[in-house]
Amino acid sequence: MISRIIKEPVVKDLLRLIENSERVVITCHLSPDGDAMGSTLGLWHVLSTLGKQVYVVTPDMVPKNMMFLPGAKDVLPFTRYAEFATKLLTEADLIFCLDFNDPKRVDRMADVLMSSAARKVLIDHHLFPSGFTDLTISHPEMSSTCFLLFKVLCDLGLYSRINRNAAECIYTGMMTDTGNFSYNSNDPELYLVVAELLKKGINKDRIYQLACNTNSVSRLRLNGYSVYRKMQLFPEHQAALICLDADELNEFDYEKGDTESLVNVPLSIPDITYSMFLRDDGEYIKVSMRSKGDFPVNKICEEHFNGGGHRNAAGGEFYGSLSDAVDKYLSIMDEYDSLLPTKITKNR
Ligand code: 5GP
Ligand code: MN
Repeated sequence: MISRIIKEPVVKDLLRLIENSERVVITCHLSPDGDAMGSTLGLWHVLSTLGKQVYVVTPDMVPKNMMFLPGAKDVLPFTRYAEFATKLLTEADLIFCLDFNDPKRVDRMADVLMSSAARKVLIDHHLFPSGFTDLTISHPEMSSTCFLLFKVLCDLGLYSRINRNAAECIYTGMMTDTGNFSYNSNDPELYLVVAELLKKGINKDRIYQLACNTNSVSRLRLNGYSVYRKMQLFPEHQAALICLDADELNEFDYEKGDTESLVNVPLSIPDITYSMFLRDDGEYIKVSMRSKGDFPVNKICEEHFNGGGHRNAAGGEFYGSLSDAVDKYLSIMDEYDSLLPTKITKNR
């Protein structure tokens, strides 16, 4: 039995909003990941069975490794279909905002989103939602928006509307946001939901292969190069750094998503507590950070890299050169030494 997550008055409000809306748009954060795509498409499949006109509009392109998701080809990236996406957002009765907590996370789409007269509903698991929606369902203790969405759909009485396509999408986000159930994954209920999704007919092994274990040759080589040649360790700070400049990205025919999990690799070293990955994206330096245990990388991203996120997974942007970003990282490490776990022997 799956426990309830939203209270009865919220259930009523949300059902009324859905009932009274004909035109629905579902959106998520920039550079959508498995959880963003899984939750938007999962909800899309469910609402489509209710006879609504429903569209998924993403701020930018769907990543290649998520194109296997049922419905992915029907997604409208704002960067590609700006005019049509603007019309849909503007004319919508209801907009679902999934897997993000602030309009800043939809980048250039923020103005259109915020100026739309549509009622807005947030379903998200990031800390500190900024309160930009009419109805806010925020549960930072949940490991993924997809896990949260499943529970919300159950509370709404829509379990029977979760078909195999919706189940595949929902499973994908639950899997990717927990690193295939290797972190944030000790909630027993997570596995009750997985069991329900399996009953809906999903093939979880196939989803893992397609979402997480499919590489191009150049991606494999870029990742090997990054670990072999570019990984720097700072044992006194229990920290690691990998950075890639534009020439290196070109050399390996970089495509969006190719460096997706690289930032996690140094964390497999027992004495490394946190890791940073820097990539020269042209307009800015994209910052990704991961950590183990209580070490809060979201604090570093908030305080120094125009970003934020979760304690163990955060990101941001740095405006300046790659070497300036590296210098900045090196110069701030001291500030966070007091937050490192003491059990690791320093200078070993
Ligand atoms: P990633 O390293 O995969 O890009 O991001 C990890 C997490 O950090 C995301 O799920 C998101 O919560 C957060 N994050 C990444 N980039 C940004 C950013 O530019 N701003 C903020 N506020 N959070 C970010
Ligand atoms: Mn998520």
